[in-house]
Amino acid sequence: MIELANVHKSFGKVEVLKGITASVEKGEVVCIVGPSGSGKSTILRCINGLESYDSGDILVEGARVDRNAPSIVAIRTQVSMVFQRFNLFPHRTALENVIEGPIFVKKEPRAAALERGRALLAQVGLSDKIETYPPQLSGGQQQRVAIARALAMEPKAILFDEPTSALDPELVGDVLSVMRKLADDGMTMVVVTHEMGFARDVADRVLFIDGGVIVEQGPAKSVLNQPQHARTQDFLRRVL
Ligand code: ADP
Ligand code: MG
Repeated sequence: MIELANVHKSFGKVEVLKGITASVEKGEVVCIVGPSGSGKSTILRCINGLESYDSGDILVEGARVDRNAPSIVAIRTQVSMVFQRFNLFPHRTALENVIEGPIFVKKEPRAAALERGRALLAQVGLSDKIETYPPQLSGGQQQRVAIARALAMEPKAILFDEPTSALDPELVGDVLSVMRKLADDGMTMVVVTHEMGFARDVADRVLFIDGGVIVEQGPAKSVLNQPQHARTQDFLRRVL
């Protein structure tokens, strides 16, 4: 579903992605772990065209991601993104935040968007918060609205960029359990996270990235339990 082949990306003189090659199959959950500044967010942002890349190829279902091509609009609809800071519209209710994309991007009829929006908010455990404005919601609830909003676009894959890093510890579990359910339902997911328990239990594969290169990748349990490279071992020792 998603393929990266020898992707390079610099900001000015600093090369932050130094030849990233990886793929994500349909229905797979891939966790990306690694130190701060290693290029994890940049990878996600390149996949859905929020950021350009300098060389190499990124394909989503065979279509090349080019943020300057008209096809990027369709690719962004197919690949939703959930951010660390939820990026909800503060002056719109939870439900209005969820139906925004379907109505304005997908041109869905309002009634249908509303009905599906309510169902999606129920799916993330927020039936009672439909008319609530984001500032009145906890961080965990806001993140669940953001997940419902991502799902409202009926994406083929969802990219999560540290979805629980901004949350108080007691709110992390609710968000992770929504993500776990999505994974069980077969959603294709790429998740940048420091939640090693989630990565171990839910991910099919883990990529460990450091300094803009994939140092190690493989089945979640083998990378996390028996890392082969010293840099992976060192990182895991520090986060676990
Ligand atoms: P991570 O998500 O792993 O913490 P990022 O992908 O955000 O890492 O960043 C990788 C590197 O690229 C960092 O050194 C960061 O400072 C730099 N970087 C990220 N975005 C920009 C930008 N828009 N302009 C300049 N440098 C950036
Ligand atoms: Mg990041």
